[in-house]
Amino acid sequence: MAESAEQVHARLTAAAEANGGHLPMPPQGGWDIFPWVAVDGAVAPRPLPAPADEAPRSGEGGRPCELCTDGFPPERVVWEDDYWVLLRPPAPTGLPVLLNLCPREHLDFGQLDDDRASEFGRIANRLARIVEGLDNVARCQVLKYGDGGSHMHAFFAGRTARLSHVLGSPVIDWDEIIPPGPEDVWLADLHTIATKLANWGGAARI
Ligand SMILES: [Zn+2]
Repeated sequence: MAESAEQVHARLTAAAEANGGHLPMPPQGGWDIFPWVAVDGAVAPRPLPAPADEAPRSGEGGRPCELCTDGFPPERVVWEDDYWVLLRPPAPTGLPVLLNLCPREHLDFGQLDDDRASEFGRIANRLARIVEGLDNVARCQVLKYGDGGSHMHAFFAGRTARLSHVLGSPVIDWDEIIPPGPEDVWLADLHTIATKLANWGGAARI
């Protein structure tokens, strides 16, 4: 069972107290695409640089695709079938669930044929239902960016129920702000997700 909001909140509070009263800034704070800057002690939108050509993503413009070059790391595979692979992060993160669903073949979202697109829809629908059925997990957010890599990787982010203000579009940022929880709790939930998803096909790998 995922940790309760009270357990996560206690860990957040302890981490903040150990850091002078506020949580450490996650890596996003150093990104040049981070949209906020401090101006005279207040938070303000970052001024945008001049327009420029789109930078090539991994897997295009001569840049190798990491997934196609290195393969899917076996230790991170939660579930798989002939066409799809569900990956977990290397270690627990701030959210109770964060998964990537990727096609085996190098395809971007929008390039799937109707069969693959139908499979994605069915798997995504089941996955969201399974994640939202976990104890202490509320919504499962489904995200697709694709600005860094051209090999489709859809995010499924389950957020802790009743953890006030960890809601909406900032949830994915909180994944790197909240100190990670216990690994055994995280792995047990991933096992539940994998085995339930395998009820419709494919194989659980955790
Ligand atoms: Zn690829």
